[in-house]
Amino acid sequence: MQHEPVLIIGAGPIGLACAISARRRGVDPLVIDAGAIAQSIVRYPVGMTFFTTPERLEIGGHPLVSSGAKPTREEALKYYRGVARAEGIRIRPYTRLDEAARTGDGLRCSLSTARGVQPLTCDRMVLATGYFEHPNLLGVPGENLPHVTHYGEEAHLVSGLDVVIVGGKNSAAETALNCYRAGARVALVYRGASLKSSVKYWLRPDLENRIKAGEIQSYWSSEITDITRRDVALRGGDGTEIRLPADRVYLLTGYHPDFELFVRIGIEFEPGSARPVHDPATLETNVPGVFLAGSVTAGRKISEIFIENGRYDGERIFGDPESRAQAVRLAHETPRPEGE
Ligand SMILES: Cc1cc2nc3c(=O)[nH]c(=O)nc-3n(C[C@H](O)[C@H](O)[C@H](O)COP(=O)(O)OP(=O)(O)OC[C@H]3O[C@@H](n4cnc5c(N)ncnc54)[C@H](O)[C@@H]3O)c2cc1C
Repeated sequence: MQHEPVLIIGAGPIGLACAISARRRGVDPLVIDAGAIAQSIVRYPVGMTFFTTPERLEIGGHPLVSSGAKPTREEALKYYRGVARAEGIRIRPYTRLDEAARTGDGLRCSLSTARGVQPLTCDRMVLATGYFEHPNLLGVPGENLPHVTHYGEEAHLVSGLDVVIVGGKNSAAETALNCYRAGARVALVYRGASLKSSVKYWLRPDLENRIKAGEIQSYWSSEITDITRRDVALRGGDGTEIRLPADRVYLLTGYHPDFELFVRIGIEFEPGSARPVHDPATLETNVPGVFLAGSVTAGRKISEIFIENGRYDGERIFGDPESRAQAVRLAHETPRPEGE
């Protein structure tokens, strides 16, 4: 059976940063990803601009050159796949970790690939699995219909259509503007009384002006109660119910880590919170040899850890006490983002 000293789950920015930290200490990890390299960024809306400046997305000291003040999705994808190549990281895309269990002196894992299930053992495992695969569901009838999605997409696809977008943060704001500009009739529905204060400073006035001009319809303090193949029902804060036509529905209400996977591995959660138990110095969980990195360390509070401050986690796992202390300091010094 294949054996790896270190197996890193997730080839996102943080999984790649962890691989670099390991390699610089003489350990050659295998990185697997259920999707492509940086699959979460693949899922960002096409053409999206990060809220972060380029140098704060960098890993392993490789410069990220961006044509504007902030990089786009496409520039970030080029960057992370370039870094992976330059660092010689062993990556196996389209390979998912399904199970892992502690055995006497290591971990026994079950991976699924297009060719079937593959068992593998490793000494240490880093879970850098992010959250983007698991949308927060509204739990309303019709949520699983084929024209309903939890991800932004190429706006051209909805040109000439009626589109309902649910959410009040960056993803909803950006999708509303993109769909409107692609020629869709857009209704934005949010349970809050106004857009979240964290909406990117360059999106907010644009969206507010489109709403003021009646070019995008907005429904604040409103909740979706039902989705059918032709419309959605929503209830306003005053209890009134209306139906909006909808050829495509975007439910952009956030995401959460794969808690079920963590439970299957035996990872415990802090009482009263959904934060997986781990040693803050080393990021090792209660399961010996299993470490966390990146956004999963924050449990449900996914906006606490992002690329800017999660990129130091590899140093906490693989570094000596001095590198660990420096990584903690650098992460704490990172200001909270204005964005997502
Ligand atoms: C629209 C949007 C815009 C954002 N903008 C910014 C920004 O400007 N700046 C910033 O710092 N952050 C930003 N973020 C947040 C940022 O994307 C995340 O913090 C970051 O991706 C987390 O990195 P990660 O490596 O921990 O997880 P991810 O990038 O999510 O990577 C996790 C990887 O694990 C893989 N995976 C999951 N489960 C398994 C499994 N069981 N087996 C194998 N592989 C698995 C996934 O396919 C994925 O590739 C944004 C997020 C969104 C959604």
